[in-house]
Amino acid sequence: MKFQEVQNKDKAYIASTYNRFGVAIEKGNGATFIDVEGKKYIDFTSGIGVNAFGVNDELWKKAVVEQVNAVQHACNLYYTLPQIRLAELLCEKSGAKKVFFGNSGAEANECAIKVARKYSALKYGDLVRYEIVTLKESFHGRTLATLSATGQNHFHHYFGPFPDGFVYAEPNMDSVKACVGEKTCAVMVELIQGESGVNVLDKTFVVELAKYCKEKDILLIVDEVQTGNGRTGNVYAFQGFGIEPDVVTTAKGLGGGLPIGACMLFEKTENVFAYGDHGTTYGGNPVACAGAVSVMERMTESLLKEVNEKGEYLKEKIKKMPNVAGVDGMGLMIGVRLKGERTARQVAEECLKKGLLVLTAHEKVRLLPPLNITKREIDEGLKVLGETLR
Ligand SMILES: *Cc1c(COP(=O)(O)O)cnc(C)c1O
Repeated sequence: MKFQEVQNKDKAYIASTYNRFGVAIEKGNGATFIDVEGKKYIDFTSGIGVNAFGVNDELWKKAVVEQVNAVQHACNLYYTLPQIRLAELLCEKSGAKKVFFGNSGAEANECAIKVARKYSALKYGDLVRYEIVTLKESFHGRTLATLSATGQNHFHHYFGPFPDGFVYAEPNMDSVKACVGEKTCAVMVELIQGESGVNVLDKTFVVELAKYCKEKDILLIVDEVQTGNGRTGNVYAFQGFGIEPDVVTTAKGLGGGLPIGACMLFEKTENVFAYGDHGTTYGGNPVACAGAVSVMERMTESLLKEVNEKGEYLKEKIKKMPNVAGVDGMGLMIGVRLKGERTARQVAEECLKKGLLVLTAHEKVRLLPPLNITKREIDEGLKVLGETLR
């Protein structure tokens, strides 16, 4: 099928919620994609941080195919090995005590919201402490509750009434303290705000916030849907901030390409849920879990070192490019602040024409290349980016 035909059919049959770029991806290898017309692209997106080890990754494919050949689904009424193995790995790598599996980032956050509310209900009574403080410019998902949790007004139209109980603070202690009250059960933050522009929270603020939450018995939920699973050069970004959250959610890169989300429960929250409190048909599906196990088994010191080195290399090169005001981020989660006339979307469109896929995040160009992107692919991508920004 030629691109024009693909686009026409998409327009005819797919709900028009996405402002798609003009390319139909057919296949790929590593951080290189081929579109339906045979044109090649370097991929600095990983499908928004999902394809942790790129496309056609042998270890992930082997794990997934073996599981497909064994059993594709069994539902959560029965035990399945990949789910248990993955939970064990996640606990080992994060320090969490228990895990609940869902199918997406939004679902992982829904779970965290439920955990926070039940924790407080058990301890302080039902409907006494239910409010969750989130940050302005945050992004937590597209379900009604996670939209409500998202601290950006433009997400709060059309679909009301939204679930109650979310308050939005600026990323500083004065503002957080002003938002915390009798009803507060949790604070939920992204340590690096992804969707709104790769904004890294100030470390002093994060450390103080964690301490403050502990003192007040307010749960600290860290949304690592995007920052998790090696993306920022730690297995989880919170490890780089030196804090101990009560709940950590993750998704995106965890599955390496298949839908999965995890809500990780730490010491205070590990026993909050009882039978029947929460559930999902697909969550922890054996195929998705088998793929995720192959991702998490590779979260080694040497991989993390590699992620940090590649991130530094990219940042150094991009800083010197024309029309760049600055570069933000950690590891392979990078935001490029632009100066000059062009918007991030325009830069992304021009990169695409020249054979490079990049993302935008508010006014920045956002880069989330696969963790195993090669030096050659990085350099090819940088060449296009540099030419585009000139
Ligand atoms: C992508 C994202 C989500 C939502 O994840 P979905 O899988 O799209 O539901 C939530 N939080 C953060 C920080 C994200 O980046």
